[in-house]
Amino acid sequence: LSMALTDNLIGLHNRHYLSSHQDEVMERIWESGKSVSLLMIDIDRLKQVNDTYGHGVGDEVLKEIGQRILRNVRGFDLAARYGGEEFVVVMPDTPLEVALGVADRLCEKMATDPIIVSGSKDKILVTLSIGVSVSGGTASTAGTLLKEADETMYEAKCQGRNRVVPTPPKTAKSCVEAAPG
Ligand code: GH3
Ligand code: MG
Ligand code: MG
Repeated sequence: LSMALTDNLIGLHNRHYLSSHQDEVMERIWESGKSVSLLMIDIDRLKQVNDTYGHGVGDEVLKEIGQRILRNVRGFDLAARYGGEEFVVVMPDTPLEVALGVADRLCEKMATDPIIVSGSKDKILVTLSIGVSVSGGTASTAGTLLKEADETMYEAKCQGRNRVVPTPPKTAKSCVEAAPG
């Protein structure tokens, strides 16, 4: 079971673990009335690292980034490898400003602290693009939080990478009553 829920390259939780625990986290949040924030983290230009140094070095970079993410979140945050070079962190009881602080710190750390790998003499500097979403009432499901953070992560790519972008505040939908008859 542990192998099925753990990513074998990184040792972090995997997407399956995330999806089986996320709804539970959301339910607890709704009950407490507190907000949950979510980070969608994508490594910038990892393909270039693979192409330059080989896949083995790319794997080492991935592992180190997974470790750095783990070191920079709290014990009750849920960090998982979401896809090839994408990570998700679910942060219970965390308002947007706090989540943005964590994401900024992570981004900054990555951009200033090159990774030492065994497969090359070069130290490898990679950056991250991070999308951040936050729950807003019971309308936010695990799925919408993921989707919003994913969209804003792509926005961070478009804006030039190596940055954190928050989901734009939701515009309050006005209640349009159905016409009588
Ligand atoms: P960007 O996200 O900045 O647009 O560029 P990218 O090169 O990171 O993204 P792209 O989506 O083009 O490709 C993802 C790359 O991530 C391709 C693949 O070589 C690499 N990748 C994904 N999973 C792994 C893995 O498990 N090990 C290694 N070494 N590389 C991986
Ligand atoms: Mg990607
Ligand atoms: Mg990438």
